[in-house]
Amino acid sequence: MSRPLPWHEEVYRQLRQAHAQRPAHALLLSCPAGHGGSTFARALAMRQLCRGDAATACGVCRSCQLVQAGTHPDHLLLQPEEPEAPIKVDAVRKVVAFLGQKAQFSGWRVVLIDPAERMNVQAANALLKTLEEPGEQVLLLLVSERPGELLATLRSRCQLWPLPRASFAQAEAWLAALGAGAQAQPSLRLARSAPLRAQMLAETAWPQRLATIVSDLQSLLDGHREVLNVAAQWKSWGEPLILADILAQWVEDLMSRHVRRTTGLHHPEFSMAYDRMLSGLDAAKLHGVWQKLITLTRDLAGNVQLQLWLETLALDIARLSRRGGSR
Ligand SMILES: [Zn+2]
Repeated sequence: MSRPLPWHEEVYRQLRQAHAQRPAHALLLSCPAGHGGSTFARALAMRQLCRGDAATACGVCRSCQLVQAGTHPDHLLLQPEEPEAPIKVDAVRKVVAFLGQKAQFSGWRVVLIDPAERMNVQAANALLKTLEEPGEQVLLLLVSERPGELLATLRSRCQLWPLPRASFAQAEAWLAALGAGAQAQPSLRLARSAPLRAQMLAETAWPQRLATIVSDLQSLLDGHREVLNVAAQWKSWGEPLILADILAQWVEDLMSRHVRRTTGLHHPEFSMAYDRMLSGLDAAKLHGVWQKLITLTRDLAGNVQLQLWLETLALDIARLSRRGGSR
C-alpha cells in the first residue's frame, strides 16, 4: 500500500506539500468507513520513511520493504488486538518508549494509530503528553472514522485532515479496474457506496442474495412463508451484521417510497416491489423495525441469542402487514 486510493490523490498531494513547507508532528486523518483512510495513512507513513524522492513511496527500497514487512525499526503501528477490542494504555506506553529512543534509519520516526477512536480514556490521556512534546522528526498519524469520539484535548493537538468520500463513479471505476466486472455496481449499492466494503462484498454471495431477500420479505408480508423458516435461512447465511444492514436499506427504501421519493434509493430496481409491499403494510411501524436492525451490533455484544433475535425480527416484519392477525 504505497499509494493512496485514486479519490485521495489530490488531498495526499496537498498534505505532502503542506508538510514539506511546515512539518506537522501529529495529523488526524478522518475518513468515512470503507473509503480508504487506513490505506492513505499507510501510504503516508511509508512515504515519510522511504529513501526515494518520488511523490509516493517507491515500494522497493530497504525502508519500504521493512515497512511492508512490519519490521521497520522507526515505524510503530498501533491497532486493536481483536477487531472490536479497545487500544489500551499499555499499547500507548509502547509509543512513549518508542519515541524515547533515537531513530535508527532515515531520521524520521512514524507512529500510526488506527483506528484512533478505539483508544480508551486512559490510553488517550497517556498519548496527550506525547502529543505535546513528540520530539524532533516525529510524525504521529491518527486515523479515525469517527473523530467526534476522540477526546477533545487530543483532537486539538492534531492537525485535522478530512479525507473525502469516493464518488459512486470513482468507486465503480476503481472496482472495475480490480476486476469486479458485473459485480461492481450491485456490491457498491449494498455497501452504501463505500468502495472498500464493496470490494469485500463483491467476493461474497450477498449481491446475488439481494433478490432472494426482497422476495422473502414479500412472502413474509403476504403470510406465504413461515417466520421460523425465513429466520432459519437468514441464520444459515452467517454474517448477521451484513444481513441487518441490507434489511435496514430495505426499510430506508420503503420509507423513501412511502413519501414518493424516486431518487436516492439504495436499490431503485426494486421500486415496483416496494410499492406493492407498501400497499399492504402499516408504514408507521417501519421505524420500529429499523431501530431494531441498527441495534444488532450492541445486542450481539450483549450475548443475545441470534436465532431468537432473527425470529423476533422476522415476526416484526410479518406484523407490518395490515392483514396483521395473530402471526
Ligand atoms: Zn521506498
